[in-house]
Amino acid sequence: GREISGLTRVFGILADPIHHVKTPQMLNALMAREGRDGVMVPFQVSSEDLPTLVAGLKRMKSLGGFVVTVPHKTAIVDLCDEVSDSARRIGAVNTVRREADGRLVGEMLDGKGFVGGLVAAGIDPKGRSAYLAGAGGAANAIAFALVERGVSRLTLANRTRAKAEDLAQRLAEAYPAAAVEIGTSDPSGHDIVVNGTSLGLKDGDPLPLDASRLSPGQIVAEVIMQPEETAILAAAKAAGCRTHPGKPMLACQLDLMADFLGMRALPEAVR
Ligand code: NDP
Repeated sequence: GREISGLTRVFGILADPIHHVKTPQMLNALMAREGRDGVMVPFQVSSEDLPTLVAGLKRMKSLGGFVVTVPHKTAIVDLCDEVSDSARRIGAVNTVRREADGRLVGEMLDGKGFVGGLVAAGIDPKGRSAYLAGAGGAANAIAFALVERGVSRLTLANRTRAKAEDLAQRLAEAYPAAAVEIGTSDPSGHDIVVNGTSLGLKDGDPLPLDASRLSPGQIVAEVIMQPEETAILAAAKAAGCRTHPGKPMLACQLDLMADFLGMRALPEAVR
């Protein structure tokens, strides 16, 4: 088996709590498959201590980078030396690479993973209309990724309307030509319908949108991974829609993280 040595590149995942994360298992398996001499370990850190830890990580020469998850995705933005345009607009970062000179470069891959998962399943949002329920962290990233991919128009609907309006405004500032509007719970008239809320995680949750308005020909996609078939996906199937589960978003995101963090490259000597 693989052994950790003085040459091993170290990667972390920052979260609080952290016991539930699955990213280390998956990226460690990926590095093993790729023959990469690296290891990802959990770094549990409170919001209060995040700046201190990150300042230390900047100086850790054997660090390749880290994944960032709840509750740090927003706070990490200003702790990076550089973030991508889309991550800055979304206001969140979930993957940070440490460059040889110690610079921390942040990227947000949630939305790109969602779109990549769709494309891999043969569903390219480019030129199609999309309806997105939600305006939280996942929905923000997905909305930007859908517009970046070139949807013909995007309708946003959220329980707290002000959050959807704020998202629409940031999209309009970044992409003045994009057709973005605020909708109701009715997803009819859209090619791709996305649940970007957390509704469906728990038994008995209300549906995130009005399923009686779904019709055959529509594709209904989910961000929730567990349960595999949420109530809205079951309702969509019953309405004759094609469904797309939450798992491919994660699978694609892990690939993007591995690329961004250089986990497929050959081992390098510790600098
Ligand atoms: P947030 O807390 O940031 O956002 C939650 C969203 O759900 C908001 O739009 C919120 O509306 C809405 N919502 C919550 N409860 C209700 C309710 N009772 N009625 C109506 N709307 C409600 O969460 P995230 O965006 O971070 O996560 C959302 C989901 O995405 C989670 O289930 C998470 O597991 C999943 N996810 C999946 C990923 C994957 O790779 N597959 C990656 C990242 C996240 P409001 O604004 O009104 O509160």
